[in-house]
Amino acid sequence: MEGWITDAYTDLKRNRVILWVKGEKVRKFEFAYRPRFYINGNTASLNEMARRLSAIEGVRNRMVRRKAAPRMQQSEMLEVSTDNFRTHRRLAEEAYSFGGHTDCMVYDADTPIEQRFMLENDVFPLAFVSIEGSDVKCLDSINELYYEMPRFNIATLSVSLAESPPSTSTAISSITINGEKVEDEEEKMLFELPRILDAGRCDIILTSGGDAFEIRHLYNRAEYLGVDGFTLGRDAGFRGPYAAKSYMSYGRIYYKPSPVLLNGRLHIDTENAFLHAESGMEGLMEISRLSYMCPQQLSRLSPGTAISSMETIEAMRQNAVVPWKKNRPEMFKTAGELVESDRGGLIYTPAVGFHNDVYGLDFSSLYPSIMKKENISVDTINCDCCRSDGRKVPGLDYHFCIKRTGLIPSVIGNLIERRRKYKRMPEEFASLRRNALKWVLVTSFGYTGYRNAKFGSIECHESINAFGRELLLLAARKAEAMGFTVLHGIVDSLWIKGSGDAAKYARDISSETGIPFDIEGRYRWIVFLNNKGNGEGSLNKYYGLFDDGTYKLRGIEIRRSDTPEVVRFAQNIMLEHLRSSTDREDFMQRAAAGLSRIVELVRDIRRGSYPVEDMIITKRVSKKLDEYRSANEQRSALLRLKEAGIDVNAGDIVRYIISASRKERNVVPEQVLTESDEYEPKYYLRLIARALSTMLLPFGYTEKKILSVFRYS
Ligand SMILES: [Zn+2]
Repeated sequence: MEGWITDAYTDLKRNRVILWVKGEKVRKFEFAYRPRFYINGNTASLNEMARRLSAIEGVRNRMVRRKAAPRMQQSEMLEVSTDNFRTHRRLAEEAYSFGGHTDCMVYDADTPIEQRFMLENDVFPLAFVSIEGSDVKCLDSINELYYEMPRFNIATLSVSLAESPPSTSTAISSITINGEKVEDEEEKMLFELPRILDAGRCDIILTSGGDAFEIRHLYNRAEYLGVDGFTLGRDAGFRGPYAAKSYMSYGRIYYKPSPVLLNGRLHIDTENAFLHAESGMEGLMEISRLSYMCPQQLSRLSPGTAISSMETIEAMRQNAVVPWKKNRPEMFKTAGELVESDRGGLIYTPAVGFHNDVYGLDFSSLYPSIMKKENISVDTINCDCCRSDGRKVPGLDYHFCIKRTGLIPSVIGNLIERRRKYKRMPEEFASLRRNALKWVLVTSFGYTGYRNAKFGSIECHESINAFGRELLLLAARKAEAMGFTVLHGIVDSLWIKGSGDAAKYARDISSETGIPFDIEGRYRWIVFLNNKGNGEGSLNKYYGLFDDGTYKLRGIEIRRSDTPEVVRFAQNIMLEHLRSSTDREDFMQRAAAGLSRIVELVRDIRRGSYPVEDMIITKRVSKKLDEYRSANEQRSALLRLKEAGIDVNAGDIVRYIISASRKERNVVPEQVLTESDEYEPKYYLRLIARALSTMLLPFGYTEKKILSVFRYS
């Protein structure tokens, strides 16, 4: 038959690679396969290994020469293969721990077996293929841009429960599929559900939070009630490849439930699907094809994991083996976030205060472009072949190869190229695919500097920063030479003031550097803010009004997700008053007028007549209740929720108000809020004063000063 590969995984019991193919029908295919892994080390250790392994049934081993990623140097290795997938895992584990106290290294052991199978058979997820028996033929190309997507039948699924908060024994009261509510006896509904999915030839099930509870609950209830043959996939059961975990990213804790992957149907949990949320099914499929990660798994991972997988695949394509690196937590930082954390990309501290006639300009995809242009990669740094004529890194004692393209630049180069080509295609066809590529590129820099990433290297990371700084400095000097004043410069962005020809300036820089340098916009006015602590210019806090009348806001409360509506409202009033500012003096008058208007709001709040819903504060909890050492709002919220029988995981969101009641019970979560709860006006006035002071601190409006204005009005 002919069709698209929609899912691939291994059946560990039967030692088969499973492919699901969707053509006119949807069919499952099984393949026998011998996975391999490699060990290198000194001769004595390898001989010892070979001796031990040869005693195990079904295991073959032999000495081979292989290139080893990431440095891509040849060495002698022991190749181990087996037809038993579980033995493969166990032996690799043993070799890995053996390696822990010798100089042995293990390679290729953690690349998913199905990925390797697909690569060797020249197919990939979402490829259009022809399959007869055990013969797989690819009728598609991974480089294709105009590939066709299967026409998926998608069903949204949600479940209502008989009681809230639910427990494992809570009955299901109704099931909603594609907006249609089915309400019946529980057993009957569970019996009917697979039949409804089959009748609709459903390929993809979308849930909102299915991983966390709903899907497992459906299976559990079906088992408890003895509903025969219940399943949501086309095959029985589901897979949960890893346990639930809380993880940290950019100083924040997130909770990730154990995934529920279906067999023969794809389950996508929209609450746990970054790429799908940002760039839809099209974007998810695009990255799935390129990364060899099936859409079901990929949807639950960060774009950074996709880039890591692409690098591994590229190394395997170049016949290299890839080292096993354990304990690689999810990491997801954008270039800006990373650089900001060490101020590495800062070249001009912002000129704090009010400015008019300002241009904002930025290099597009600066860091990925540098990686590609300067050939930055673990396998090209300080190469032997270009010691004298290699590409020197500004200010650092490193060079990069000019003779051979590195692994990372090949991967990144391909992504940049695809994105560029998609840019020339009709918006409705390419915008989601382009957007997904953007996200993968944005995270690529973070992975390069990440010590635990397979292809990470701190030297490469430093080099990218060094080249980036050089480019931005070049752009800044050129601006000054053309009569502009540089107000602020960081990472890939520059703010300049002046009446010169900004368009020509941008064009000149683009052609001189080979990296697109675009005018993001002209600001009628912009205010760069300072830090409350030391008064220094803050790197990423500003607000400004573009020529087209839209605001750009960075680092002020109105942008933050935890800010209560009432504080947003106050900042909004201020922004609307400031809108038509012409110069600094005018701005100051408008700020004073804005404050007078906010005083009216303050009176409402003080009278207690403001709606309680607008006082809700939203916070992500960073730990479990018993892990909090000291009292704070989050802890109090968790405590109140616990009293009400509601458990909250680290990484979950809590919403609460600060009430006027006794001190230790003043945090009232939304779930237990009653009509008699009143907000504490003083608390909210302080929040408003703080938020206004963030905006107006460069003009002498401290929180204290604003509060005293509130007090005497
Ligand atoms: Zn070289």
